[in-house]
Amino acid sequence: METGEPNELCEQCGLCCRIFGPGIEPAPENLYTWMEQGRKDVLSWFVAFREGREPVRCVDMKPEDLSDVVAVELRDPVTGSFVTVCPFLRRISKSRYLCGIHAIKPVMCGNYRPWIWGETGFGRCPALRAMDSRCQYPK
Ligand code: SF4
Ligand code: SF4
Repeated sequence: METGEPNELCEQCGLCCRIFGPGIEPAPENLYTWMEQGRKDVLSWFVAFREGREPVRCVDMKPEDLSDVVAVELRDPVTGSFVTVCPFLRRISKSRYLCGIHAIKPVMCGNYRPWIWGETGFGRCPALRAMDSRCQYPK
């Protein structure tokens, strides 16, 4: 999920995004930023589950609604169904992918580095494989 940062170890193969992308969960600060920036194109892809309330489309929420959010999930804005691929993933060549919302991507995507101990393990990550699957220690 480091697509978009060519100076890091990530090879931008897009594999982690293709496999884990449908399960991304933006943090409340991500939702707040998207609201402040008027990014309805991004917000429309998410549904929030709030304490003791019915699920609500994030595009219909206000910043003051964020305090009781317990979970956020990707949903197709037209059908309301689960998605099978992250809608923000962009294929730019045969084997290279970029994040279409790189500058404002969810915190969990921006922090994801499978070659660091303690991060979510992903043995198929080519950057990790290039290191003989030996993770680095956090700096
Ligand atoms: S699987 Fe690894 S190399 Fe490929 S995009 Fe994800 S982090 Fe980058
Ligand atoms: S939001 Fe961007 S980094 Fe996160 S899964 Fe989708 S394409 Fe990958």
